This record gives sequence, structure tokens and C-alpha cells, in this order.
Amino acid sequence: MIIVMQPEANEEMIAGVEAKILLHGLNVHVSRGTERTLIGAIGDERKLDPKVIESLPGVERALHIVKPYKLVAREWHHAQTVIQVGNATLGDNAVCVIAGPCSVETDEQMLASAAAVARSGARMMRGGAFKPRTSPYTFQGKGVEGLTMLKNAAATVHLPVVTELMDVRMLDTFLEKGVDVIQIGARNMQNFDLLKEVGRVDVPVVLKRGLSATISEWLMSAEYIAAGGNHKIIFCERGIRTFETAYRNVLDITAIPVLKRETHLPVIVDPSHAGGKAWMVSALSCAAVAAGADGLLIEVHPSPVNAWCDADQALSPDEFSVLMKKLSAVCTAIGRTL
Ligand code: PEP
Ligand code: MN
Repeated sequence: MIIVMQPEANEEMIAGVEAKILLHGLNVHVSRGTERTLIGAIGDERKLDPKVIESLPGVERALHIVKPYKLVAREWHHAQTVIQVGNATLGDNAVCVIAGPCSVETDEQMLASAAAVARSGARMMRGGAFKPRTSPYTFQGKGVEGLTMLKNAAATVHLPVVTELMDVRMLDTFLEKGVDVIQIGARNMQNFDLLKEVGRVDVPVVLKRGLSATISEWLMSAEYIAAGGNHKIIFCERGIRTFETAYRNVLDITAIPVLKRETHLPVIVDPSHAGGKAWMVSALSCAAVAAGADGLLIEVHPSPVNAWCDADQALSPDEFSVLMKKLSAVCTAIGRTL
């Protein structure tokens, strides 16, 4: 960390900063210029909070030199991480499409969804059994029964499943039911206790971006999971909240190349929750793949108008099939496979 002292900082103030740095187990290097004094804190600077240092008398600003995240940073781990889930891979040359309904409703709906997404080439199946709904009076998900329905339906087409965990008390049940990938939803991206718990298990985690989370906050949330020992983390950009009201969220395409540079972990995109309308999903999916996404998480329902949740944004099986053909062409154009 570099600490820039104010021009009027005196020796007592400089000594105060030095003492604070030494107290945290770091070494100090003082550089006295003609106008300012710079103090370098040498060692594991993550132990030092710039805000704490900036609150000391005579300090103008304190700056970290290295990134506050380490385990998830490409800076420390150059090779791309590839996560294997059953026969699906995330982070290699193949673009992994995960598809299925917003929520698990009935066995019939799940079996029809499974058949449709597998037929068109999806590599994993999604379906929410525990739904984070804005209103407590709307459908909250089928719960544990929904997990069984999801697993059963996906088993008929030999696909692994992705489903959202909202409550840490359900983690053991998720493991017992054989959930292949745990999704942490946008609303829980900074639920640090939940992140710590999924960090202790050996199940891949899809970490969705919070509704208004910065890239740095998102990376720090992933670092929470990695710090517990679970390095199988998949970032999922799902649109952020801005001043724009014409669509549900703004898909942050820029986040894809930025994350690919910042982290060695796979990055996928959810075009369904970004646009919020089925007719936008195709364009956003193509853009995401062209921008370097390692996969897509797409809502598909056998009968979108009858969906119990997010009906507006679900693709029908036919629309999904058309999209997969288009994505295959995009993949070929950029030297990837689907
Ligand atoms: C979902 O994937 O069903 C979902 C609720 O997504 P998000 O957390 O991105 O809103
Ligand atoms: Mn949804």
C-alpha cells in the first residue's frame, strides 16, 4: 500500500502512520520528497484497510497496489479454469448453454422442458425450486419437492441441474438431492454467510451479479466462496439496474471482457433476466457469445404464456431451437463450439 501524506504532515503524524503499519505486521518504507512524504507499507497489504489509514492525522490518501481479491484473480492464476459438470464443461472452447424454466411447476412441465432443451443441445438444465420473488404473495417455488422434480426430469435426458439456493439451512438438502450446480441469485450476491457456506462444499456455484453490484464487489463475493476452499465458481452477468426503464435490466456486455481479464474463472450470461422479454433473448445471447461468454443461462418453458413465473421472458421450445442454430453459427464464426 502507498500512503500519500498531506503537505503539512509533521514528523509526529508520519510516525503515527508507521506505528499503525507495524502493528499490522507489515514493514515500512518512508520516502521524503520536497513537497510530500510517501509511506510504503510492505507485506500482505490486504490486512490494511485504506479507509482506516486515511482516517489517521496527516494522511491524504492510501492506495492498495495489488487487487483485494487473490484466489479468483487472473493476476495470481494465469491459466483459465475449466469446470466440469457431468459431461458439460465451462471455461473451455465450448460454449455451455444451460436452459430450462424459471421455476419448477409440475412433473409434466419439467419433463417437457427437459426434452425440449436437451433436443436443441443444452448441456445443463435449470429450474428454480426456491424463488426469490419481490412479493411475498406470489408463487414462492415448489421447495424440496421441486428439487426432486428437477432432478427427475433432467435425469431422463442425462443433464446436470442448476438451481438456486436462497437459505443456508437448505444446503444439506441440496447436497442430498444431488444438485449439480448451486446458483446464488442476484439478490444474495452479498449474503456473505451464504457465500461462506457454499465455499465449504465441493459443488460448483453460479454466482449471479447483484442488481447494482460493481465488478469489484462481485469479484470480492467470489473471493468469499473461494476462501472457503471451493474454487468452482462461475460468474453470471444477468443485467444491472440503471436509469433505463424500457427493459428489465441492462445487460452489461462490457463486464464480459473485463471479467475474463480479471479472473480465470468461467463467465456466463443470463439474457432472460437482463432483457426481461422473450424477443430480446436471441440478440442478447448472440452478443454475449460474440463478446466471449463461456456459456448462457436461458429460460425456456414448454408453454411460456402459462408459466407461473417470468412468463414474458421464457422462450418456447421452437424459439429455443432457432436460437441454438443461430448461436452455433456465431460460435463457428469466432472459432468456438456449442
Ligand atoms: C433466476 O435465475 O431464476 C433468478 C431469479 O435470477 P436473478 O437472481 O438473476 O434475478
Ligand atoms: Mn426467472
